[in-house]
Amino acid sequence: MPAATPSPTPFHRAATALGQWIDSDYCPGGVEKMRAEPDRVDWVRIMPFIFLHAGCLGVIWAGASAFAVWTAVALYFIRMFAVTGIHHRYFSHKTYSTSRVGQFLLAVFAGTTVQRGSLWWACHHRHHHLHSDEPEDAHSPHVHGFWWSHIGWITSRRNFPTDYSKIRDLAKFPELVWLNRFDFVVPILFAVSLFGCGSLLAVWAPGLGTNGPQLLVWGFFISTTVLFHGTGCINSMAHLMGRRRFRTSDDSRNSAILAFITLGEGWHNNHHRYQSSTRNGFYWWEIDPTYYGLKLLAFTGFIWGLKPVPQSVLAEGAQADHHASVEAARLAAALHPELSFSSLKKVVPAAAALAVATAAAAQTTLPNKGDDPAIHKDVTALAHELNGHKPPPSLVESSRAPDA
Ligand SMILES: [Zn+2]
Ligand SMILES: [Zn+2]
Repeated sequence: MPAATPSPTPFHRAATALGQWIDSDYCPGGVEKMRAEPDRVDWVRIMPFIFLHAGCLGVIWAGASAFAVWTAVALYFIRMFAVTGIHHRYFSHKTYSTSRVGQFLLAVFAGTTVQRGSLWWACHHRHHHLHSDEPEDAHSPHVHGFWWSHIGWITSRRNFPTDYSKIRDLAKFPELVWLNRFDFVVPILFAVSLFGCGSLLAVWAPGLGTNGPQLLVWGFFISTTVLFHGTGCINSMAHLMGRRRFRTSDDSRNSAILAFITLGEGWHNNHHRYQSSTRNGFYWWEIDPTYYGLKLLAFTGFIWGLKPVPQSVLAEGAQADHHASVEAARLAAALHPELSFSSLKKVVPAAAALAVATAAAAQTTLPNKGDDPAIHKDVTALAHELNGHKPPPSLVESSRAPDA
């Protein structure tokens, strides 16, 4: 019987962590062994991450200017686009195509987000979809609690390695593996560039009132720290906050607030229902700036082959919204029986019908009434019922879903 491999001593763990500062693939015991360890915060490994947060305090010495603050805001949204449009919708889900040079440039751009390499990101995200809200899910708030899913999991030693065997489609590109392995290179170059730009502006455009240290603190430390927490909100809150349109096997939700913070990722329940689409906002009223940005990129020819949401999924969503609206009308009627002739009972079903009609108009290829009467059923009948009328037999008949 082979002898059990001794668990690493604190000294070995610290030495491994220091090695990973430079080479994130440095893993003497092997990736599988490290991945099998229990969750444990690796304090040595996360020193750069702590330094990123501590760097925000540099504002005490660097001060502020309108230019520096707006740079931080702009870099937040530009790089949130990189997180969602590149780390997530390209590398994790391959929802569009580009050239080999194109994907390298995308990976460099995504490296400025300081969320480690695109391959590490994709590897862990695909794992999340495989095990959503199960014990294996590294950042499920239902399993591990809010703070662990927001920030804790990223500090855990077992979550640092990239398991290339799980992302063979990406691991076959050595240039991507190199960027992933030495994931400190792009962030350092980015930070130095910001310092350099600030220093040049201090000389060339003194009226802006900025300088190197100020752009470094605002453009890199503050903007990147906020960007991390904005992204983390999807892990911690998108399975807690919002509405569930689709009955997925997890607890993912749609939230307009999270969609604003993350440029469209807040439509998380949609995404869990259908991951291969380039857009997460399935309907026109679900604002998805990342998708609009990708559409613009597609016009330039830099990317192509954006994948749509299948009509069957759109129809399923429209039906779910319709039934939820009708249910809300029924609930309103049940809660306020004294309002049996109130305008509320006329307005709510009418609003439901309007919502469905709007959805159908936005998606012109949705099934027609003749194809699937179930989509249009019972709003009109319900309006008759709520007003104390008996629906005409023809209406009842036509609203009946066809036999399977
Ligand atoms: Zn999720
Ligand atoms: Zn995803």
